[in-house]
Amino acid sequence: MILELNEEQKMLQKTARELMEKEIIPIADDYDRKYRPLPRDIAVDLMKKLAPLGYIGSVLAQEYGGHGLDFISYGILIEELSRAYASLGLVVVVQNESLLTTLFKEGTPEQKQKFIPKVLALEKVCCLASTEPDVGSGARDIKTTAVLSGSYYVLNGTKIWISNGHIADIAVVFASTDRSKGTLGITCFIVDRAESPFATRDLLHLGLRSCPTSELVFEDCRVPKDNILGSLGEGYRLALQDFLQIRTCMAMMSTGIAQAALDASIKYARERRQFGRPIGTFQLIQEMIADMVIAIESARFLYRQACYLLSKGESCFREASMAKAFATEMAIGATSKAIEIHGAYGVSEEYPLERYFRDARMLTFADGTTEIQKLIVSRETLGMPAFV
Ligand SMILES: Cc1cc2nc3c(=O)[nH]c(=O)nc-3n(C[C@H](O)[C@H](O)[C@H](O)COP(=O)(O)OP(=O)(O)OC[C@H]3O[C@@H](n4cnc5c(N)ncnc54)[C@H](O)[C@@H]3O)c2cc1C
Repeated sequence: MILELNEEQKMLQKTARELMEKEIIPIADDYDRKYRPLPRDIAVDLMKKLAPLGYIGSVLAQEYGGHGLDFISYGILIEELSRAYASLGLVVVVQNESLLTTLFKEGTPEQKQKFIPKVLALEKVCCLASTEPDVGSGARDIKTTAVLSGSYYVLNGTKIWISNGHIADIAVVFASTDRSKGTLGITCFIVDRAESPFATRDLLHLGLRSCPTSELVFEDCRVPKDNILGSLGEGYRLALQDFLQIRTCMAMMSTGIAQAALDASIKYARERRQFGRPIGTFQLIQEMIADMVIAIESARFLYRQACYLLSKGESCFREASMAKAFATEMAIGATSKAIEIHGAYGVSEEYPLERYFRDARMLTFADGTTEIQKLIVSRETLGMPAFV
């Protein structure tokens, strides 16, 4: 793995940082307070501002209208955006990861032609729906059903905690087409709300407040048979593949949030004076800064290792889970230390530190908890699955 960024990647990082400083950082705190969650038109407008730099369809092949970036470059983009406004980072990651990746690999030519241009043009906002009120980590037990009726499948069930759910035009939905077959009875559907309506409701939560997180209710929702993604009974396999990329993205996001907290802490430790000198000269403050630097650099190495394997098209269950588990927990610790360094100002809404902390706290759950990631790392290491 090459550790140094190449010239193009360095330039991308610089341009992304400049775009964030000009367009996103100035609005982030205000929007975070005002928009719980972002309305669809504002979310789309913000994504359109980011799109020219490669934020939408980042790693999708250029022949399909994507930017064809390598995964390290994608990491740079997502890290910089999450350093600025992590809620918007999640909106963008979900737009990229819900449909495009799997569609590119597994979609029929007709599906690709029908959906990819609209997703890239942001005419269709996407979400991915697996979690249910009674089924979280144990995704293989999903209760949402899809029953064949002529040339349609009829979906019934409820999904919960779905990022972008309320503003989505397309939901990629995992449903059981045959309970008796267990994981081989789960199928993945592209549900286009315009032709297959479903109800949504926003849920309020601690952090990442501007990213819509929603309940989706499917009541006799008729989805054309042609909208099966992959094949019948292949949904669980597709979900496991999707997770590799999405978990790596969660690690990129966490690294970006922690970097924002570190940058703020460095500035504050240099400027804030107590006992007649900058607090940055106190060794206990220096220890917290050092701990944050070591942890953030470690998280970055871990997620870039997963990126390196993804770019080569190799499987990376161990690496994606290591990156996700380490980076999401690391960001909670780093943002907490940053608050400590800022004293009482750290918990004030006049500073972004409390936002960083709340946002970091959300990411251990999304796309598999820390406990689940550890079980995957152990399974890949020991060769003995804990899931029975
Ligand atoms: C910000 C955010 C965004 C999300 N976005 C989406 C989305 O877009 N789409 C979607 O489908 N879902 C989404 N989710 C849901 C997320 O995937 C689930 O929260 C997650 O899978 C855990 O499920 P759960 O919350 O039901 O917890 P549970 O599975 O009920 O777990 C509760 C606790 O038990 C532990 N646990 C469970 N099983 C085991 C085990 N075998 N061994 C040890 N410990 C175990 C867990 O680690 C956890 O601590 C999102 C969640 C959040 C917070």
